[in-house]
Amino acid sequence: MSQLEFHSATEDTRQTWFVDVILPVPIPKMFTYRVPHELSDLVQIGCRVIVQFGSRKILTGVIGRMHQTPPEKYEAKYILEILDDEPVINKIQIGLFHWIADYYMCTLGEVLNIALPTGLKLSSESKVQLHPHFEYYESDLEFSDKEAIVLETLLKTNSLSYGEISKLLNLKSIYSIIKSLVYKETIIIFEEVKEKYKPKKENRIRLKPHWLGKNQLQKAFDELASKPKQEAILLHYLQHVPVFNEPELNQKGLIKSSFTSSDLSGSSLRTLIKHEIFEEFEVIVSRFDSYDNSLAEVNLTETQLKAKDEILTSFKEKDVTLLHGITGSGKTELYISLIQDALEGGSQILYLLPEIALTTQIVSRLRKIFGDKMGVYHSKFSDNERVEVWKGVLSGRYQFVVGVRSAIFLPFDNLGLIVVDEEHESSYKQYDPAPRYNARDVAMVMANQHHAKVLLGSATPSMESQYQAQQGKYGLVKLTTRFGEGQLPDFVVADMIRERNKKLSKGEFSSELVSSINQALENKEQVIIFQNRRGYSPYITCNECGWIPKCNSCAVSLTYHQYRKELRCHYCGYKEPLPSTCEACGATHLKTIGFGTEKLEEEISLLFPQARVQRMDLDTTRKKRSYDTIISDFEQGNIDILVGTQMVSKGLDFDNVNLVGIFDVDRMLHFPDFRSFERTFQLSTQVSGRAGRRNKKGKVVIQTRSIDQPILKQIIEHGYDKFYQNEIAERHAHHYPPFTRLIGVTVKNRDVKLASLTAIKLGNLIKEKLGTKRVLGPEEPIISKIRNEYLMELTIKLERSQVNLAKVKSILLETRLELMQEKELKTSKIIFDVDPY
Ligand code: ADP
Ligand code: ZN
Ligand code: ZN
Repeated sequence: MSQLEFHSATEDTRQTWFVDVILPVPIPKMFTYRVPHELSDLVQIGCRVIVQFGSRKILTGVIGRMHQTPPEKYEAKYILEILDDEPVINKIQIGLFHWIADYYMCTLGEVLNIALPTGLKLSSESKVQLHPHFEYYESDLEFSDKEAIVLETLLKTNSLSYGEISKLLNLKSIYSIIKSLVYKETIIIFEEVKEKYKPKKENRIRLKPHWLGKNQLQKAFDELASKPKQEAILLHYLQHVPVFNEPELNQKGLIKSSFTSSDLSGSSLRTLIKHEIFEEFEVIVSRFDSYDNSLAEVNLTETQLKAKDEILTSFKEKDVTLLHGITGSGKTELYISLIQDALEGGSQILYLLPEIALTTQIVSRLRKIFGDKMGVYHSKFSDNERVEVWKGVLSGRYQFVVGVRSAIFLPFDNLGLIVVDEEHESSYKQYDPAPRYNARDVAMVMANQHHAKVLLGSATPSMESQYQAQQGKYGLVKLTTRFGEGQLPDFVVADMIRERNKKLSKGEFSSELVSSINQALENKEQVIIFQNRRGYSPYITCNECGWIPKCNSCAVSLTYHQYRKELRCHYCGYKEPLPSTCEACGATHLKTIGFGTEKLEEEISLLFPQARVQRMDLDTTRKKRSYDTIISDFEQGNIDILVGTQMVSKGLDFDNVNLVGIFDVDRMLHFPDFRSFERTFQLSTQVSGRAGRRNKKGKVVIQTRSIDQPILKQIIEHGYDKFYQNEIAERHAHHYPPFTRLIGVTVKNRDVKLASLTAIKLGNLIKEKLGTKRVLGPEEPIISKIRNEYLMELTIKLERSQVNLAKVKSILLETRLELMQEKELKTSKIIFDVDPY
């Protein structure tokens, strides 16, 4: 018999498809699965599928490629299910994800894991059920009490999740019990897959269609004549949905909750539904309120118009333009105008803002102009809300999105413009977990894919961007005056050493700042005090023996939080109550050293008892709305003095603030990092930008112990250019970015010796391959232990030209693989961080 005879004619024309699936696992490749014939017509790149991975895991992945080549080394499993009719990820994105994985040295799965909103990821939950061959009441096996409870419950409920078992037994760790039950062949484990995203639904009420029309309605009233409660409900409906005149309104009906007012009876409504006068139905609704479109206009000033023209001209030649505009010059106004133009042109727009700058203030300003057309993508949104924005971009509902760094992952297919506001901000960089990407830099790659333009905006451009602009790679446009009568503030530097010596200062406050605050309070003006450290004081110490409480899991001292009388670790979250005595010598006098926002708040209340003081830092803004509440209280003048961390420095625009106090620049300046000057300059300039934004000249008081630092002079003179020239010379001399590229390497191990051994071996291997000069370290970082893992660091420094970056990365990855083969070092983690700032 020839083989052909086994096949029917139709089967001969059928093709077998294979798909490469991106799975959320840290393995650097896609996995090939086979598509069952009945699903062949449904598979598309970018659709989510459910597949089996390994022997027991069920995972959701995304189809990254389709082809007809079976894998050589293994038998491809079938995909189990396709979840989407339409792709949730487009091909451009898949290209971008590949780029991110390559450039930032991570896996596609890790990119996907961060890119997809949690609501689009399926969770698979481990559950157990009784083994089909196991008969509980006939078994002569021995069971512990706890095992018996599990088995008896399973007899009744069929299946239990791990979480349910743990609750049932009131035990955290249930694995030993499960293991033992599996071993005795009494239960089996399986995975249940669940969709997390739940559309928001609304129950509505409408008339059954056969009651529509004047005669029929009259009949309904006749029927209800003797039932006033039911009649009242019908009247309520007709009042809100005038179906007499417009019967088509009945289709949408009326929201059910509108019938719950006190004078309407719920049971009457139920009766009317039962008697088929009304019907209840469900609709999917948006989680976002709706807004009117195009309410406000922007009228750019002449200066701003000129800048806009320059930007548009620059876009003709260059893909990226840097807008260097001082605080309050109207950069946001300019963006709005450019965005409006792009919207009219029909392309999509992404407006990126750093986390802390994406405030209600800016959103409501944009809302007034763009109304419903604008989507907002923010990390404080719920999973479901994020999925709605994602789907809104897919469906074309949102042509314009304003969002934080993760908004670069949204499924755009036709971007025309990307605005990166506050482009210098370090919060565009994701530090942990992988992908350790910088959204500003990824935005430029994205723009390239879409043939879109990028506008970088800042009052204090990053060294990188300014350098590219100086080199002519980016266009450069400047805005050097504030809007209206606004002027940049005056600076006063308070010499804290002198103040202390002459006993002029009060607590942490210089005499200069005290008198300025008094003056402001007298004028009924508001004050912002900036201190980039939260908590009460960074540590406490014993007066007698010098003991300092430290975190057990991290190599840092515990920060004292007075409000809860607690010591907390800012690295791992550990907390303990404040000890009443020294744990080393038993002495009772513990004193606080240094100060954070909480202590400043306390001192202010003592120094200015008449002032209303509010603190804004991570600790006071953990709840979703608390940040907005503080800002609106301040706006409405219910707060006189606002003390805060860098949260107070960005994106806020208050009319009545004319004084800003900056504490402790010294700590920022002396932070051991090649960027500390850049960061100090940026942060100080940004914070001072909050002072005197309308028609009055503001004042900024900077307190320092190193009065002779040249950088202070540059801040005071608003001398960005001067600062840039000095700093770029330093960077050049010491071979730092933008003249080189850095790749950070972190080695982690719970064993301090193994951490250092791994780092040394790794360092030696890389030095052999790349040359000693290109490898710095290994070194113990300042914080050498976090969450019980000891850390070691290396830095790879590469010249900008003549280095094949891709080659270097593959060498690094190979070296890591090589080391991981060594049995002894297997427990070490090696993490690469490209552009690690
Ligand atoms: P930047 O983003 O450069 O700090 P903003 O765009 O926030 O500056 O502008 C500062 C203030 O000036 C805001 O209150 C803004 O509403 C106002 N402003 C700027 N340009 C205009 C304009 N053309 N018309 C009206 N108000 C403007
Ligand atoms: Zn002591
Ligand atoms: Zn800790």
